[in-house]
Amino acid sequence: MTPNTDRNEELFERARQRIPGGVNSPVRAFRAVGGTPRFVQRAQGAHFWDANGQRYIDYIGSWGPMILGHGHPAVVEAVQQAVLDGFSFGAPTEREVQLAEAIVHLMPSMDMVRLVSSGTEAAMSALRLARGATGRKRIIKFEGCYHGHADALLVKAGSGLATFGNPTSAGVPPEVAQHTVVLEYNHIGQLEEAFALHGSDIACLMIEPIAGNMNFVRASVPFMRRCRELCDQHGALLVFDEVMTGFRVALGGAQSLYARQIPGFRPDLTVLGKVIGGGMPLAAFGGPRAVMEQLAPMGPVYQAGTLSGNPVATACGLATLEQVTRPGFYEALAARTRALADGLAVVARSEGIEFSADCEGGMFGFFLLPELPQDYRSVMRTDAARFNALFHGLLERGVYIAPALYEAGFVSAAHTDDDIATTLEAAREVFASMRA
Ligand SMILES: *Cc1c(COP(=O)(O)O)cnc(C)c1O
Repeated sequence: MTPNTDRNEELFERARQRIPGGVNSPVRAFRAVGGTPRFVQRAQGAHFWDANGQRYIDYIGSWGPMILGHGHPAVVEAVQQAVLDGFSFGAPTEREVQLAEAIVHLMPSMDMVRLVSSGTEAAMSALRLARGATGRKRIIKFEGCYHGHADALLVKAGSGLATFGNPTSAGVPPEVAQHTVVLEYNHIGQLEEAFALHGSDIACLMIEPIAGNMNFVRASVPFMRRCRELCDQHGALLVFDEVMTGFRVALGGAQSLYARQIPGFRPDLTVLGKVIGGGMPLAAFGGPRAVMEQLAPMGPVYQAGTLSGNPVATACGLATLEQVTRPGFYEALAARTRALADGLAVVARSEGIEFSADCEGGMFGFFLLPELPQDYRSVMRTDAARFNALFHGLLERGVYIAPALYEAGFVSAAHTDDDIATTLEAAREVFASMRA
């Protein structure tokens, strides 16, 4: 059924009149892949319907939060109940305590957490806390890792380790970027060099332990071990940005996976978001009591929020966590995600397409590259035109993946074997057309 008018196109046209680029977050605009963004009308389970009534299998899940799929009945019920009791009070509520207790229970690296409203805010606040707690100003981040859009974190590498980072956005003064040292992911040599040069002035090293903003790239175990050792040696805090990986790759986050391979491993601070809000604006950062008590009102590091710990968002987050803590949840999710990632690789190779894929829990990545990349530069060797052909081929067949080659994908508990099979069949057709 082809509608006479394309409602997506109509809405996009209207949106562009009043919203810069027609969207409220840039990647939604399809700039990288071209074409018209799909305006979502509603979603249920693993699917959403666009403004033309066209159905898609959703592998974005709001960029991670929708781990249960859309409209899980228990979550909907919890949110409806919460709304009846009030939207926001600007005073503490029991659910904030419950959510903090639940998070700390599931992630033993944290004694305390503070709830905020977005991942950006959580990462920015963790950074301020790390600087306040150490009395140092320099920070280390890695090329291809995204930690939200706070000024000090919108920085790319300078021309060498001894030089300052460069802003990646207009409006970020070089003076703000100059305290951010940007290194290549998974490169131990650079890490050692940076600590040798700046060690006594490094407040923290912030990292996505499994990077989901340069598609899907794992920090190697030796690299992570070295990050931990160097932070310890130099008195810097190791900050895990688990906004994407927290409650997504495993119940205890990516840190639980590294702790299995590096005895006694834990980060100092952890940044959370996405899944812990279940689709509502909610994020958090946490760590040891001694560090967290540096925050206002206990300590000198200021941080606040009118809507922080919002009662509706905490209800949504708690109901979501209740589902994911059920026995076997991550095993089932991981098996389904693995079936997709492995299945795509089999289909691609059978059509003679260079392809590699990886996944953990409910998060996956695939590349039109013969081998899994280890850093941002290698990810960006992907042929963008071929990725775009794949993206649009899948979209036409009702399969919605991220509209950019440097984004990860997400499977939810609502995706069925049928959804996976349909996806693989669509992928087979598209790969066949790409070979021609
Ligand atoms: C999404 C994301 C953020 C930013 O979170 P927002 O809620 O979009 O501000 C930060 N870090 C990582 C790793 C993310 O994936």
